[in-house]
Amino acid sequence: MGTDVKAIHQRDADLRRRAERVIPAGMYGHHSVVNMHLPPNFPQFLKEGNGAYIRDVDGNEYVDLLCSYGPIILGHRHPAVEEAARKQAALGDCLDAPSPRVVELAELFTSTVEHADWAVFAKNGTDATTGCLTIARAATGRSVILAVRGSYHGAAPWCTPWPAGVLPQDRANMRYFDYNDAESFKAAVAEAGEEFAGVIITPFKHIEGFDQELVDPEFARLLRRTCDDCRALLILDDVRCGFRMHLGGSWEPIGVRPDLSAWSKAIANGYALAAIAGSEKYREVASTVFLTGSFWFAAVSMAAAIATIGALRAEDAVARMARAGDLLKTGVVAQAGAHDLAIHYTGHPTMPYITFEADTDYERMTTFGSAALNAGTYLAPRHNWFLNAAHSDDIINRVLASTDRAFDAVRRAYGGD
Ligand code: PMP
Repeated sequence: MGTDVKAIHQRDADLRRRAERVIPAGMYGHHSVVNMHLPPNFPQFLKEGNGAYIRDVDGNEYVDLLCSYGPIILGHRHPAVEEAARKQAALGDCLDAPSPRVVELAELFTSTVEHADWAVFAKNGTDATTGCLTIARAATGRSVILAVRGSYHGAAPWCTPWPAGVLPQDRANMRYFDYNDAESFKAAVAEAGEEFAGVIITPFKHIEGFDQELVDPEFARLLRRTCDDCRALLILDDVRCGFRMHLGGSWEPIGVRPDLSAWSKAIANGYALAAIAGSEKYREVASTVFLTGSFWFAAVSMAAAIATIGALRAEDAVARMARAGDLLKTGVVAQAGAHDLAIHYTGHPTMPYITFEADTDYERMTTFGSAALNAGTYLAPRHNWFLNAAHSDDIINRVLASTDRAFDAVRRAYGGD
């Protein structure tokens, strides 16, 4: 398992041919191998996931270091989550009114996330971030939201990184600053002036394909202070980091609490769910915004989320993922040194990313990702990776066997430093 995959992709190729006829470009969004710049040996289709492993449609098995770009936090098909989902599915998922699960989950969510006094559930991270902006505007009666240049907050016109179909008006009320840069933040606040409604920011800087950067606590405190002074809202976009850095919210360790937070990805271990959490002060205004969607009240994913949060606590998963992340980092950094390759290993231990120095067109990272896949580990060459609670020491050692082969491939192709 997990080493020397066959890399025969006949079934994958057949599905790609069929997809090209009926799906734009054969696949869309971040699950397109083309859009995510995955090397040619990456399968476009996967058949199943199990614990720390995924299997493609041709039967090749890989250790999963991408975790569906974040949602899989306990490992694929975690027994307690599957059991809870099955039990709820037997009762019904999409009913004419919410099931009791929504109350139970809101109780659990608000007792888990420290700043949260209320919660609203949705389906996608974009629903949650967009809802936060609307609540901030409703609360302040102002228009301008500040965001970090280049940060990803979803696929809506106000934030998509792709320009097609986006009008200048869609972003007329956005202003931008740079992560951890106090001066650029102050300039954006000044630019927003009387219209400053809020600021949205991710817990750390995790822009695709670049070195990651942890937040400077002083910078986070500046954001909090400024929002308080201006009566604007601080919105933490915890869609990607949520529950991987801290169960109580990703800025709990630095003691900065947002007014609103956006969640999705990992909160139901792969079931479709998002959440907006808010503090008491904004409860009433949240009730004046029409937050809804046909599937937002579906009960199966809520049952899965309740079980996910329970298992995260019971398994001490956050600490275990961090330990696995440290093990991975120590191993990868040592391997790069042994291969005489200069890398930057950045990000949170549970969401790391590496870049090679002088890798301007990502050619080294592409070679690295391709060779790691052939050696049995699925990781994205231009996106941060994700640890999950099924990544035992044994699994991390398998990953390290793959990365060692991958570094070797890079050195043979491009030489050492
Ligand atoms: N915010 C962040 C930080 C994200 O990483 C993402 C998804 N990658 C989103 C928002 C949007 O979430 P979704 O794709 O579920 O709409």
